[in-house]
Amino acid sequence: MGKFGFALSPSSRINLDEVDKVKFAKLVEIEPDVLKCMACGSCTASCTAGKFVKTSMRSAILALQNGKNEDAINFLKGCLLCGKCTMVCPRAINTRHLIISILKVYQ
Ligand code: SF4
Ligand code: SF4
Repeated sequence: MGKFGFALSPSSRINLDEVDKVKFAKLVEIEPDVLKCMACGSCTASCTAGKFVKTSMRSAILALQNGKNEDAINFLKGCLLCGKCTMVCPRAINTRHLIISILKVYQ
């Protein structure tokens, strides 16, 4: 049979009932503001490191909510802790402090 020129992507389905919520609950205890994130992406758009490496605060928070803890840490690896994302967050989340807390809880 000939090739059609496309491939089916693996399923990205997430069963939230199977996600380990213990660490996320611990994070919320320290940083309740993480629940205020509306995934607008302003932090990621203004990220100093994001221009050079795969750093994204928005993606990290979404990954944590979906139980993809390793992905979240990878999204924060290049962070320079410059604090620019904190200045632009419309929900006034202290993202810089949140990053430090995430690394403490998940590493
Ligand atoms: S700027 Fe604030 S509200 Fe927007 S995605 Fe980043 S942390 Fe969430
Ligand atoms: S503190 Fe980290 S995530 Fe925020 S803008 Fe600076 S390098 Fe990017």
